[in-house]
Amino acid sequence: MKKLIVANWKMNPGDKGSAVTYFAQLARAKNAVKNADVVVAPPFPYLAIAPRARFLTLGAQDIFWEKEGAYTGEVSGLMLKTLGVRYVIIGHSERRRLGETDDIIAKKIRRALDTKLIPIVCVGEDVRDPDGVFFSVIRGQLERACALVKQSEVGRLVIAYEPVWAVGAGHKSATPKDAAEAALFIKKTIAARFGSSRVKALRVLYGGSASSDNAADFLRERDVAGLLVGRESLNPKSFIAIIQCASINS
Ligand code: PEP
Repeated sequence: MKKLIVANWKMNPGDKGSAVTYFAQLARAKNAVKNADVVVAPPFPYLAIAPRARFLTLGAQDIFWEKEGAYTGEVSGLMLKTLGVRYVIIGHSERRRLGETDDIIAKKIRRALDTKLIPIVCVGEDVRDPDGVFFSVIRGQLERACALVKQSEVGRLVIAYEPVWAVGAGHKSATPKDAAEAALFIKKTIAARFGSSRVKALRVLYGGSASSDNAADFLRERDVAGLLVGRESLNPKSFIAIIQCASINS
């Protein structure tokens, strides 16, 4: 199965010209993309200027749970869909930190599924304790996030294991073995709720200071279906190097 590499640009780059340049650089590397699925999730305004190309799939960084109406500042699933978006990141720790609750996350996942968008649901512990209590944190987040998901929809989910202590930390990532263990735990948790036959198609990504230096080690793990990349996705050279690692390990 092809590995899935997702770029989360967060609130970057600061101007449209830089976004255009970045997309162009990525286009020049399209041959590297052949054996990986590559998703770029830029800020909303840049979705409209992203190239429509086979090698690049568009993602959004958020979605609103209602279909339409008087919700100032929000962006609907249908709006994303009409811009060619296929994936949407939901429940990122940086949004949870700003007050996004599990209830909101569950509703956003529901809206994404209803709009035929693929949710990339972020879960992960704030701290990794030696006794493994953090596993119950992940389980709780998953169960609440999936509260409105139907059994038949499980295969359409992507889960990103993103330990919060590693996100944006630069040099401090989880180990590939820890990421694989967490991915397996996530699959077992989903299987316990929805049935083991349902998790076969479920992809679990790792995110948290992934870089061109450590990507190959994560992607070698069978249970790690790909990477969610923040900081290093803003450097086209590094991001392309990560994609190349994915092609080798797919
Ligand atoms: C992220 O924002 O999802 C992320 C993983 O960021 P970083 O790669 O910078 O840790």
